[in-house]
Amino acid sequence: MSFSGGRNGASAAHGRSSLKAIDSRNSTFHKPAHSSSPSSSSSSASSSFKSKTLHGSSSRKIATKDGGGVPGRVRVAVRLRPRNAEEMEADADFAECVELQPELKRLKLRKNNWDTDTYEFDEVLTEFASQKRVYEVVAKPVVESILEGYNGTIMAYGQTGTGKTYTLGRLGGEDPAARGIMVRAMEEILAEVSWETDSVCVSYLQLYMETIQDLLDPSNDNISIVEDPKTGDVSLPGATLVEIREQNNFIELLRLGEAHRFAANTKLNTESSRSHAILMVQVTRSMNERSFPYITENGGNSFLSKNIKPPIVRKGKLVVVDLAGSERIDKSGSEGHALEEAKSINLSLSALGKCINALAENSAHVPVRDSKLTRLLKDSFGGTARTSLVVTIGPSPRHRGETMSTIMFGQRAMKVENMLKLKEEFDYKSLSRRLEVQLHKLVEDNERQQKAFEEEIERVQVEAENRISETERKFTDALEKERLKCQKNYMESIKKLEEELLVSQGKNGSAVMAVSPKESLSKREASSITSSEEISNLKKSLEKETLLKRSADEDVTNLRKQLSQSRLLESSATSEILRLRQLLENESRQKEKLEGEITTLQSQLLQLSFDADETRRRLDGGGSAYVPEGLESATLQVRHSEHNEPEDGEKASVAKLSEQVGLHKILSLLEADDADVRIHAVKVVANLAAEEANQEKIVEAGGLMSLLNLLRNLEDETVHRVAAGAIANLAMNEVNQELIMAQGGIRLLSTTAANAEDPQTLRMIAGAIANLCGNDKLQMKLRAEGGIKALLGMVRCGHPDVLAQVARGIANFAKCESRASAQGMKSGRSLLIDDGALPWIVQNASTEASAIRRHIELALCHLAQHDVNARDMINCGALLELVRVSRDCTREDIRLLARRTLSSCPAFRTELRRLRIDY
Ligand code: ADP
Ligand code: MG
Repeated sequence: MSFSGGRNGASAAHGRSSLKAIDSRNSTFHKPAHSSSPSSSSSSASSSFKSKTLHGSSSRKIATKDGGGVPGRVRVAVRLRPRNAEEMEADADFAECVELQPELKRLKLRKNNWDTDTYEFDEVLTEFASQKRVYEVVAKPVVESILEGYNGTIMAYGQTGTGKTYTLGRLGGEDPAARGIMVRAMEEILAEVSWETDSVCVSYLQLYMETIQDLLDPSNDNISIVEDPKTGDVSLPGATLVEIREQNNFIELLRLGEAHRFAANTKLNTESSRSHAILMVQVTRSMNERSFPYITENGGNSFLSKNIKPPIVRKGKLVVVDLAGSERIDKSGSEGHALEEAKSINLSLSALGKCINALAENSAHVPVRDSKLTRLLKDSFGGTARTSLVVTIGPSPRHRGETMSTIMFGQRAMKVENMLKLKEEFDYKSLSRRLEVQLHKLVEDNERQQKAFEEEIERVQVEAENRISETERKFTDALEKERLKCQKNYMESIKKLEEELLVSQGKNGSAVMAVSPKESLSKREASSITSSEEISNLKKSLEKETLLKRSADEDVTNLRKQLSQSRLLESSATSEILRLRQLLENESRQKEKLEGEITTLQSQLLQLSFDADETRRRLDGGGSAYVPEGLESATLQVRHSEHNEPEDGEKASVAKLSEQVGLHKILSLLEADDADVRIHAVKVVANLAAEEANQEKIVEAGGLMSLLNLLRNLEDETVHRVAAGAIANLAMNEVNQELIMAQGGIRLLSTTAANAEDPQTLRMIAGAIANLCGNDKLQMKLRAEGGIKALLGMVRCGHPDVLAQVARGIANFAKCESRASAQGMKSGRSLLIDDGALPWIVQNASTEASAIRRHIELALCHLAQHDVNARDMINCGALLELVRVSRDCTREDIRLLARRTLSSCPAFRTELRRLRIDY
């Protein structure tokens, strides 16, 4: 591809120079990162900025979970300002110094009357380009990315008067078509976000002479940049942050900012063209509804799904930068500034140029830290943001030099490759809130059900008892009645029979005595006739009696039947009661199960709070959850900073939970069969152990023993890490230190350390041993059981946090030794030297990591206190380190201690004289 044969009829010489320009551009396109980028193709003349950049669903798909990112080159557009009235007049006779070929995305810069250079950009915007089109090709893809949760930067670079502020900052009050990028971007953001779940906050700042001023609060005129040491993210916590809900408020804010900028510049005797204006828009969007499948309803019972996922928030930050004019200012101070000031004015802009050069050339060192602007834009160039740059130029041939340098800046910026990363976080707080609500609901439902069942059982029982006693009463009445009736009948019949018998006997006797035989015979005949009548009468009444008795028997049988029926009834009522009892038992089993679930929920909630704690601490750059900082740690505790109220709230909920569930129960879970439960339990115990108030209770309840057993019996590294952290915290207390030693803690910790891979596990173990090192009474035992060797063994991992704990342990040990020597309780060489600690001490004495160095310096001073160590210290170079400490240590007390030690030890004095070193 050759551009040399331009329509200017270029000479061979000019052809070469044109090719050079194109080549440099071409090399931009052939960088490997570009070819892998979906946005690298620029062949289609009609494709816009937008269509070439990565946005929409594809970016979400690629750049999520793995924490990686997608390549996204800095996109650069060039915009030409129309001639103004003055130029119309003054340059009327001259051709413009640039010629644009927007359809080819090319710009030709006239070198002189016969020679031009050609440059290619991502977009070429002519003097006729509307503000709407400029927004669409330069800003819209960036704004869309912000809404998806990426960071983004839109920046204008160019000579004063070429239209940077026109492009970015026009409010368009008088003419809506004139609205600039800031106004249009906010319109698009506000149209897209939802007020229930999302928020939009704005800061507006000015950077002038390496000072950041708050344009929303002029009294706030020296804002500092804060950098997260872990993630490297920069922020301006001191800047005013205003939540925006309506476009009008935003316009008002921009107006206010502009007014303050004008006032500030008047006061500083400068113009806005010398300062950088920076607008920051933080868009936070909650992904809640899309990712919260944690509870399923199942016939009135809730079951936890195994994988609770907290809701997710995405935080995209848009930075819009209206840079100071790129023209060189006269360093002699023609604007009334001294030379130093003039340098300072230019510092940020020239540092930006240097960084972009370094990035474009893939240089190993990018001097980001040279200026505030480059620190602020760390993420925009070579970082994780999507960045669009618009370089503005004027048409006048009088400013050809400046135009040229602006174009070259743009060309270099096109080579900068960023790695776009989704800014996504878990929203633990809202998950915790929702779980808590769910938990309360479960508890209440359960209570209501329980109460209703108890009432039902009572009702059925009373009813059955009433029925039984009623039946019994009826039965007894009927029986009694029947018995009386039978008795009466019977008595009556007997009476009758007796009477009849008497009557018949009386008749027979008198007849025998008073009549003659004949009479007697005839009488006898007659009487025998009456007797036989009576007999038949008697027979009749006997039959009647028999009948009566039979009917009475039947009645009795009937009553018996009734009795057995009511017995049956009674037994069915009893079985009903039994059934209900069964139901009640089932219910209470169900209740127990629910309570179990609640405990699980609580422990998972706790786990989440714990994770959230850790995450937050990591984000805040705070150190350990378990191992305290500082040398005199035997009395130190990890404390949360006071402003961190939600954490206190979570701590309180852990404490409350431990009250509810009971410490013994939690400790018993340490031996649970289920690995998940064990991990949760040990995390809970670790969290409790971080609070001094709980430590005694934990030890009393046998927690220390259980934690040591975990190290002894399990091989899970997470368990080891958390258990060691808990032990480290318990090891802050002198009584516990003795207990740990007595239970073989040193050997256990050493073995665990020898097998551990994770630096955090090693950090916890080193922290625990370091605490034990500070106990005067345990020195000999600790050393005998290999404590010092274990500490030195851990330096193999090289992690600074681990090294800091090792150094702290050594310093603690050395301090105890020097105390014992001073009290005449110890003679002979330091055990640290015996165990070979000295070479490591010397090797790390001048490390850059202050957390390590501080301890080592102190250890050196303590070792040097005792003359018997002097020879070894001289032999392995520790003396020279001590001299350095006496000169350079930032802590005055240590410096003085080192100096005193040097002058009080005769062996050191002699050696220093020999080496001709003054101290
Ligand atoms: P800078 O911020 O780069 O110093 P300005 O944005 O203040 O430049 O523009 C300088 C002048 O040029 C202003 O009067 C502005 O209205 C005018 N101007 C800049 N760009 C354009 C454009 N594309 N169309 C019309 N006028 C423009
Ligand atoms: Mg301006």
